[in-house]
Amino acid sequence: MVKIGVLALQGAVREHVRSVEASGAEAVVVKRKEQLDEIDGLILPGGESTTMRRLIDKYDFFDALKNFGTQGKPIFGTCAGLILLASDIVGQESAHLQLMDMKVERNAFGRQVDSFEAALEVKGIAEDFEAVFIRAPYVVEVGEDVEVLAVVNNNIVAAKQGQYLCSAFHPELTDDHRMTAYFVEMVEAAKKELAS
Ligand code: GLN
Repeated sequence: MVKIGVLALQGAVREHVRSVEASGAEAVVVKRKEQLDEIDGLILPGGESTTMRRLIDKYDFFDALKNFGTQGKPIFGTCAGLILLASDIVGQESAHLQLMDMKVERNAFGRQVDSFEAALEVKGIAEDFEAVFIRAPYVVEVGEDVEVLAVVNNNIVAAKQGQYLCSAFHPELTDDHRMTAYFVEMVEAAKKELAS
């Protein structure tokens, strides 16, 4: 069974743990950077990306997170986690982990749109995924290595680049675990690859 960590500095951790377990993997609540050595994949949850970044720096996680990804271990960023993965953020001089080649806009669906749900086709994962958006970002530009997996009104809301997966919505908030299960499969494949 693969072990999947959920970064637990801030945000929606418990729901991801539940979704990982429902998808047949072991979930680890990650609060110290040393725990990254024990896991095969990592979820960056939703929450507030600026707060999360502050805590990443405070607890000295930044380089450890970057190394985790660049050594080939899968990372799934949801909502604020997607923002943390992006190489560029609209209106900001610097981005965060910069592991995915894409530009994101925060709170992109507008101030008045606090949250909404939409049934989405997520390429290769589901034709009817009930996606929950909460003060969500979207992706405004992707590099050529990034595969777009889902759009809402032509705005990119899920994507994949190698070992990195992201969604602007919260796949952990319903009982539909197909997106998490897809990530578990990515982690299983990467673990085999890294062991060979
Ligand atoms: N608006 C948040 C941010 O900019 C993301 C919201 C979420 O994770 N639900 O970080």
